[in-house]
Amino acid sequence: MSTLPHIAFIGLGNMGGPMAANLVRAGYTVQAFDLSESACTAAREAGAGVAASAQDAAKGAQVVISMLPASRHVESLYLGQGGDGLLAAIESGALVIDCSTIAPASAQKVAQAAAVRGLAMIDAPVSGGVAGAAAGTLTFIVGGDAAALERARPVLQAMGKNIFHMGAAGAGQVAKLCNNMALGVIMAVTGEAIALGVAHGLDPKTLSQMMAVSTSRSWATEVCNPWPGVLENAPSSRGYSGGFGNDLMLKDLGLAVEAAMGVGSAIPLGELARNLYALNRQAGRGGLDFSSVVKLVAKE
Ligand code: NAD
Repeated sequence: MSTLPHIAFIGLGNMGGPMAANLVRAGYTVQAFDLSESACTAAREAGAGVAASAQDAAKGAQVVISMLPASRHVESLYLGQGGDGLLAAIESGALVIDCSTIAPASAQKVAQAAAVRGLAMIDAPVSGGVAGAAAGTLTFIVGGDAAALERARPVLQAMGKNIFHMGAAGAGQVAKLCNNMALGVIMAVTGEAIALGVAHGLDPKTLSQMMAVSTSRSWATEVCNPWPGVLENAPSSRGYSGGFGNDLMLKDLGLAVEAAMGVGSAIPLGELARNLYALNRQAGRGGLDFSSVVKLVAKE
């Protein structure tokens, strides 16, 4: 019989689905739950058990992992209304790992409530996108107790290859927001640069290939190029489907603005980028990959 801890996995979307599948592949017994029937079916096909509720999934689990859209989903899952949240149903001694990208203050609030119940909890938002989740090469950006992180490490290693401990509860979320704010700005300006070149008659592929080995090189030029047809596997080449949703980037930039206001930091480009992704949402592209922001400036 396996001595590996049993895992409850809540939230099986673009990221959570492949992450749970990698845990199954690594030999863990996974009880999964999602509100979406199709996400549950995919998890079942990947070899996970599917529970009827988050509470059922957590029964007998030594590790509980969540991968939900935003702060409100995470607070409502764990805290519920008046103490009827998942924290009350998690076995004592279990470890809680929230991988969602949420407000640092929310992460701290839930970690404090977990501590009151004697549960160790870390915030472990990820970087690496859907491709990284599928390949098991995510970067985990962790806030919380060093001892809790050591308990989580083998589980995180089954889903990723880099782990950074940023500090106490909420610190993982702060670092994740710093990363995504830079990514949001870089993606928008990369699209703008390619659109400018194309408007002058340049070939977007050759321009991108040059940029990818020059000083503007980035994930946006090399992996998730915003211009359709430049990179076969990028969301832009399949109608901006899959990938990292515009609305998730908009959420992260909103969190960065809030975080900046909390400490009086100036983030002029971050605020500008938040507006660009808001405009992209207004143009009807909220559900598409965030690289579709290029459409704001590309000439048809
Ligand atoms: P997603 O919308 O594809 O998946 C979220 C899933 O959570 C959905 O399947 C939804 O049904 C489920 N859900 C919502 N509330 C629930 C509840 N109470 N109980 C059970 N299931 C519930 O989102 P995603 O792309 O997987 O992103 C998840 C998180 O990871 C977000 O915080 C996002 O910012 C972050 N993230 C995403 C990416 C990416 O490339 N997609 C990369 C890094 C980080």
